[in-house]
Amino acid sequence: ASLFAAVEMAPRDPILGITEAFVADKNPDKINLGVGVYYDDNGKVPLLECVRKAEAQLMEKLAPRSYLPIDGLAAYDKAVQELVFGANSPVIQEKRAITVQALGGTGGLKLGADFIKRVTPNAQVWISDPSWENHRALFEAAGFQVNNYPYYDPATRGVNFDGMLNALKTMPAGSVVVLHACCHNPTGADLSDAQWDEVIRVVGERGLVPFLDMAYQGFGDGIEQDGGVVHRFAATGGAMFVSNSFSKSFSLYGERVGALSIVAVSADEAARVLSQLKRVIRTNYSNPPIHGGQVVATVLSTPELRQTWENELAGMRDRIREMRRKLVDLLKQKAPGQDFEFVIQQRGMFSYSGLTKAQVDRLRNEFSIYAVDTGRICVAALNSKNIERVADAIAQVL
Ligand code: PLP
Repeated sequence: ASLFAAVEMAPRDPILGITEAFVADKNPDKINLGVGVYYDDNGKVPLLECVRKAEAQLMEKLAPRSYLPIDGLAAYDKAVQELVFGANSPVIQEKRAITVQALGGTGGLKLGADFIKRVTPNAQVWISDPSWENHRALFEAAGFQVNNYPYYDPATRGVNFDGMLNALKTMPAGSVVVLHACCHNPTGADLSDAQWDEVIRVVGERGLVPFLDMAYQGFGDGIEQDGGVVHRFAATGGAMFVSNSFSKSFSLYGERVGALSIVAVSADEAARVLSQLKRVIRTNYSNPPIHGGQVVATVLSTPELRQTWENELAGMRDRIREMRRKLVDLLKQKAPGQDFEFVIQQRGMFSYSGLTKAQVDRLRNEFSIYAVDTGRICVAALNSKNIERVADAIAQVL
């Protein structure tokens, strides 16, 4: 028999499956709200001005392409660390934080997972219910048992905070808790500052290991505000993990730029952690690619380009907010008696719209509007030209 005779077909990725169906749809007015990508008002993935300018500078230098160090471009790691923890953070001053370049946010999570497996192989991993669909698969692939903690409450369309807190209180010490730092994917429901305080307290008391996934910094309330929870966890003095991504905030999806940061309790411990993390990297892909890291490092460390980036990111954030407002206003007119105000409270690119699977099916079959079966829609895929049609269709399937 052939070597591969017993290989079974893997299940299709649910979200990429939506895109395939969308591409095959011949309706010229089709709309894809199933994606996890920011589109501008023309329905295009933007190329940011700050990226264009940084790339022009890099092109002028025509630098040779040798290998980067195992942990990535030093200027990138430094700039990212300051962005993630704050430039004056004690964990940086005390050399307790280490940051390595990673292949997107996914790469940061994977490095963290593989490293944790080496340090504490029997730890359980806990993710929110629901969570980004790759969290479970990624940690399971790294060899962990993955459990859910309660998160979303469909009745209030907000966070089931009591459920979440009670779960934290029953997790075995040493459990790894994956937390969305901001702009929860898929629900758009975030914790309040007061709720984060409680979570930080319980995580510390119970000796849990926080792993913050920050894929949408700047898409919620602002760069500083969205990173606040990372600063507050870092201030507790305990060990922590942070993966972050520039896929969305720099619109650099295909360049795979992200990072993993780890905070240890001493500089000596941090140095040992970094040495082991480098082994994880070396045996996976040796060292990361140059281009995306150089672009982000150039933008973050050049004041003028950084200002351009902050303005452009604010523009994306504001446009998403405007689409939330507009959708709610349109639904008020078209579906009177239905309350969609919660869409305005949600943060980031996504909204758990409350649409059922049957309603999502009708949107697809009758209107060529594609959403995720769970009712998740990408608000960043709405624009001034398609929003009216989306609101009309939603009103009709309700
Ligand atoms: N974490 C969350 C919550 C995400 O939504 C995503 C991307 O959709 C990622 C991580 C991965 O980001 P990247 O594309 O940079 O790997």
